[in-house]
Amino acid sequence: MIVDIHTHVGEYPAHIDERFAAQAREAWAEVTLGGTVEEHREHALAGVNRAVVLAFDAQAAGFVVPNDYVASYVATDPARLIGFGSVDPSSPTAIDELERMTGDLGLVGCKLGPIYQNIDPLDPRFLRVCEALERLGLPMLIHQGTTFARAGSLLQARPILLDEIALRYPELRIVIAHMGHPWFDETIAVIRRHPHVYADVSALVGRRWLLYQALVAAVEYRVTHKLLFGTDFPFFTASQTIDGLRSVAGDAFGVGMPTIDPDVIEEIIHRPSLDLLGID
Ligand SMILES: [Zn+2]
Repeated sequence: MIVDIHTHVGEYPAHIDERFAAQAREAWAEVTLGGTVEEHREHALAGVNRAVVLAFDAQAAGFVVPNDYVASYVATDPARLIGFGSVDPSSPTAIDELERMTGDLGLVGCKLGPIYQNIDPLDPRFLRVCEALERLGLPMLIHQGTTFARAGSLLQARPILLDEIALRYPELRIVIAHMGHPWFDETIAVIRRHPHVYADVSALVGRRWLLYQALVAAVEYRVTHKLLFGTDFPFFTASQTIDGLRSVAGDAFGVGMPTIDPDVIEEIIHRPSLDLLGID
């Protein structure tokens, strides 16, 4: 059983504005912006059993994939697709929308990204959302790491800020996207301390040396059991991600360098992430 905890749908230009597109192209000249549900259906599920599909309400960054859009796509294949909604913590109706997306739309988690939403994770409006997620039993997948987008500040994006959230809301399930790149050390410190805080390895195969260093650090701190499989589709597919993870195992970087046991890589790929997050 392979679960992809991190995939996107979203159409350009319907869900991605010109400002976001321009900043993406500055960082990645060859970037593909967005992906339709047809593309997701055809490619995202190749090689995995189930996939989490993320909405995103990041008005500040110009990237808004509505909850209803994700819910209607997930309804076409509920055996394999799992929908996570999103709310803008700055919105006065954030909690109402959280209740609507879980009650009426059947979405089972929430995607947040403070640096895209231009809010500090310790702002009372953000904490109010965390409190509601804990009360509703909804896991939070949070982009807590850097980005090319200039909506917010990098000071809002440090993984270490989630330590305070985990202390205040100990039953809240948290997944730190992309292992909090490039602040892998902060992510490892946080996931090590809190039983319900995890990190996904999505998109890291695009930077092989950093992936290797992040996984070696996770091995040395004994937190690889907190790492979940994810791709960040459409940016990477499951087969690219699985091949990339396997490519850093063993003595891939030469004799004398730290090694990552291939079994550790297989455990990440086959992690029962939905069980860990209390989904299903
Ligand atoms: Zn993503």
